[in-house]
Amino acid sequence: MDAENAGNFNVIQYNYHGALNQAWKIEQISTNVYRLESQNPYYQYQGRKYLSVSEYTDDVDLFYINSTYTTQRWNITLNSSDGTFTIKSLWDNKVLQVENSSTTSTADIIKATSTGSNSQKWYFEKIPTPKTSKIALENSLPDGKFWNHSPSDSNSVTSIRSSECTHHGTGVCKNANGVYDGACGCNSYSNSIQCNGFAKYIAKLTFGTDVWASAWDYSEDETSLYFVKPGDYIRYNGHSVFVVDINPDVYTFLVAECNFGQDCVIKWYRTISIYDIMDTFTHIYKSPYVFIS
Ligand SMILES: [Zn+2]
Ligand SMILES: [Zn+2]
Repeated sequence: MDAENAGNFNVIQYNYHGALNQAWKIEQISTNVYRLESQNPYYQYQGRKYLSVSEYTDDVDLFYINSTYTTQRWNITLNSSDGTFTIKSLWDNKVLQVENSSTTSTADIIKATSTGSNSQKWYFEKIPTPKTSKIALENSLPDGKFWNHSPSDSNSVTSIRSSECTHHGTGVCKNANGVYDGACGCNSYSNSIQCNGFAKYIAKLTFGTDVWASAWDYSEDETSLYFVKPGDYIRYNGHSVFVVDINPDVYTFLVAECNFGQDCVIKWYRTISIYDIMDTFTHIYKSPYVFIS
């Protein structure tokens, strides 16, 4: 179930990509009565974000919160035979259904009289808690500090200093074997150095797996940027970033990064537009699940 990214408050069926417009928060109001709140950043910003039925048609859309409307209250009942759930409106006892029992992407979501058909059955999948919270990441990798170590010490991903690297230049950060092992004083994670090592390191801290592990999806398709989500690693223009949030316009996002502007400086919450980086986009590692912390 997908809160359409078109700013029209419509709710649709769409192929899974795991971005915020496919994430929902379920709030219990009373015994088996729930509200479903879209996490789409645009609808979050608008406040019109609650899964609601129309009083006049069979439309299902997003609407502003109302403490009394039964149009945005739902019974969620387990079908014990197959582990699916039926989601029934308290407004008129109709249930959530994919229009015309479509199995394609895109299809509208509506309400209909319950028939027990598969088009009225839903699974819930819990988004795991990240291994490290955003606050903990910001505390251990503080904005304005430098992700480096003294060249006389060995490489350390946990070394944070107050002074900029002084040696950056073509080739100087590779060892004699051509490997970015961090001996130069820039921190390296798994032979990825500076921005690249930082983004891969923060990804590992967040999810517990490396970007090259099977839980991550790799893509060189720039249209992947339309589905960017918190937790993704992006490489563009010779620079790597870790996505920490999506803005309400859904086409700009906020990153944590190192080595942008100053040598190996750590920065949090710089805004990037997907349109500004499409031309120089190289690849994305899509995180195993959306980073909500
Ligand atoms: Zn270096
Ligand atoms: Zn450096």
